[in-house]
Amino acid sequence: MSDKKLIYMDSAATTNVAPEVFEAMTPYFKDRYGNASAIYDLAQESKTALENSRKIIADTIGANPSEIYFTSCGTESDNWALKSIAAAYKAKGNHIITSKIEHHAIHNTCMALEKEGYEVTYLDVDEYGTVKLEELKKAIKPTTILISIMYANNEIGTIQPISEIAKIAKEKKIFFHTDAVQAYAHIPISVEKDGFDMMSVSGHKFNAPKGVGFLYCRKGINLIPLLHGGAQESNRRAGTENIPYIVGMAKAAEIAHAKMEERAKSQKQVRDHLIERIINEIPYTRLNGHRENRLPNNVNISIRFIEGESLLLSLNDIGVCASTGSACASGSLDPSHVLLAIGLPHEIAHGSLRLSIDHKITMEDADYVVDHLKQIVENLRSMSPLYEDFKKQNP
Ligand SMILES: *Cc1c(COP(=O)(O)O)cnc(C)c1O
Repeated sequence: MSDKKLIYMDSAATTNVAPEVFEAMTPYFKDRYGNASAIYDLAQESKTALENSRKIIADTIGANPSEIYFTSCGTESDNWALKSIAAAYKAKGNHIITSKIEHHAIHNTCMALEKEGYEVTYLDVDEYGTVKLEELKKAIKPTTILISIMYANNEIGTIQPISEIAKIAKEKKIFFHTDAVQAYAHIPISVEKDGFDMMSVSGHKFNAPKGVGFLYCRKGINLIPLLHGGAQESNRRAGTENIPYIVGMAKAAEIAHAKMEERAKSQKQVRDHLIERIINEIPYTRLNGHRENRLPNNVNISIRFIEGESLLLSLNDIGVCASTGSACASGSLDPSHVLLAIGLPHEIAHGSLRLSIDHKITMEDADYVVDHLKQIVENLRSMSPLYEDFKKQNP
């Protein structure tokens, strides 16, 4: 590694493994490698670590440990939740309601279910990216078996009125699943109080390694295996358990929950400072997402007359990692489906910048980014024919 400056503002895409997490994991790679299904002492160490981790995770959301199923990632949890409800409750109905701003792990699973004959309603959102409760109520049919709405959006940071949505589902006896990958470890969650039947989480978004996640599934729901094989995870998710990663995720969850309030407070300060400076000091910019109901770590700004990709390359040159649209959308030229859903025209959606601030980002880092961003935007605009035309028409 060079000692080049690095300001990592892409923690909504992934995070590093925290040193304490790495340390907690290490023995399970080296000395405590037993297969949790065996009966000798070495295996029992793994079994104990597995069940302790399940208890730690369950406690963070007020669930029973038996309601936590370890998976390989957030995508798996999302797929499993939707496909399982669809298959298990087919006799009751074939209609699923979701939103237009879901992560691809939900969106593309819904599209796949449509091909299998399920009917899916993709709810519109308002200009801030909030699901409209009246629209949701109107979309419910006698055949609706599942509502799946994300807790907080990964691109624009908008937090949904999630317990109200859950309440509507409950009143109609419809299962409610939430993709809480961006919310977990940042916002306090209680599956009882919030009224969730199922919830997806991914470890690598909160300083656990990539390749581990979990699905919360309320007791009594018929959870159909996605993978068939051994008896692991109460016969629901076969495959030898990934003990080091599960231990790491539990450690990361513990740390994130112990420090949640303190971190959120400092992240909000940096977030608001970034938003205020960018909006005030760079002309023709706008904030995307809700101003208050917003993840503490999310800044998403549209900067007119520039291309997101060029902006990211210029930021990379000064050691800043950021994102335009979602990570999955970069590499394709289509503007993000989330920015289109909140009503941005294509050309404005193209020039959007997401800065996600983890707890290590300081005010100085934020100032460094804005100071350089001003110059970068000016340079890029000076090369833009669109900007030139605009200036001619609006002298
Ligand atoms: C990152 C992310 C996922 C996917 O999680 P993986 O563990 O990377 O598969 C799903 N939903 C949201 C909202 C995300 O931000």
